Amino acid sequence: MTNAHSIDSSRRDFLRNTAMAALALPLADGSLTASSLPRRMPSSLPLARKTKHVVLVAFAGGVRSKDVIELKENAPNLHRIAQNGVLHAGLRCANVGHYGAALSMFTGNVEALGIRDDGRGVNPTLFEYLRKDAGCSASDLWLSTSNGAQGKLFAYSEHPDYGASFGANVLDGEGIFNVEFKKVLDQFGKPRADGDKEAALLDELNASLDQKALASLDGGKVDAQHLRRVEKFILDELTGGATNLTGPGAGDAKAIRVGANILRTFRPRVLGITLQNADIAHGSYNGYVEVIRRNDQELGKLWDAVQQDPELKDQTTLLVCPEFGRDKDLNERNGLDHGDGSDSLNKVFLIGAGPDFARGKTLKGEGRTVDLCPTVLSLLGHKPSAMVGSKALDGAFA
Ligand SMILES: [Zn+2]
Repeated sequence: MTNAHSIDSSRRDFLRNTAMAALALPLADGSLTASSLPRRMPSSLPLARKTKHVVLVAFAGGVRSKDVIELKENAPNLHRIAQNGVLHAGLRCANVGHYGAALSMFTGNVEALGIRDDGRGVNPTLFEYLRKDAGCSASDLWLSTSNGAQGKLFAYSEHPDYGASFGANVLDGEGIFNVEFKKVLDQFGKPRADGDKEAALLDELNASLDQKALASLDGGKVDAQHLRRVEKFILDELTGGATNLTGPGAGDAKAIRVGANILRTFRPRVLGITLQNADIAHGSYNGYVEVIRRNDQELGKLWDAVQQDPELKDQTTLLVCPEFGRDKDLNERNGLDHGDGSDSLNKVFLIGAGPDFARGKTLKGEGRTVDLCPTVLSLLGHKPSAMVGSKALDGAFA
């Protein structure tokens, strides 16, 4: 355990609020700042549900239902979570190519197979809908990703009416924030030579913050002492306990650990976590099972952290779904590819648990992985746009 876990709550609140003000920066150049937008709280909408926070885990990389659902010893925590919610045993996946398949879960549309690895999608993501159409603020929407450079592409699309201004904040193993915030924070991550340099950096941070938003958040008091704590917030709160993870599956483990820190700190409306290490399966079935087991452990810890948090526990929904499965049979390397067209590849599980879900129910109806996007929107009381080409998995709700 790190200091981050013993941080006192008033200090944590200040850190959170300060960072929220900083996160409002991208829109602070005009009159329309995130903090000035009226917040349409989901509870005021006709589709209101109890869920206030959604953690959507794209268990991407290609994971067979068999290796999680049938081989229970690989995923005791996911089974425990499913007992507190629902298990959908046969969601059909959008396609069987990496990135496009996982992106489909965030856009609600079938994204082209073989979509360019470095290109953004054309359909808005659920983050953009929530930010632009549902009044969510910058600090409400986060993405913790294991997918390196590609991971940030899940944060927003290149749709002309949506795009970067409405994207999620991204944090990956290397610690990438939205660009404006990152410029300042990058420098905090470097070892400091002396107090003067630190002071200069803090002045820069101070100057970069939206003072009006800060003042409104902290009763008008903004002082240097408080701002100095922002550094600690970045280093401990978000990456604390995750930076020294190593070994197979460390990228995924970090993404989940950092995601849990984001959840605890910002209490976002939506936290997306995208994984990818399971794809080691092409060359090693055993390595793949290791990744599943490690991710199961980390997701168990995240779930427990939510249950132990008095505010989050009755308001948070966790959704875990692979982007696609894997082939029925081992390849010549004792690994598993993804291309045989079998149900083992084309159907995946969904585990969903939270205040709006039935408990201990197994669902067998129709469903697709693209339904995750409208399901998340619907859980937060937002009617999916006509651009979303899929429908919420209402049958999963209690
Ligand atoms: Zn692959």
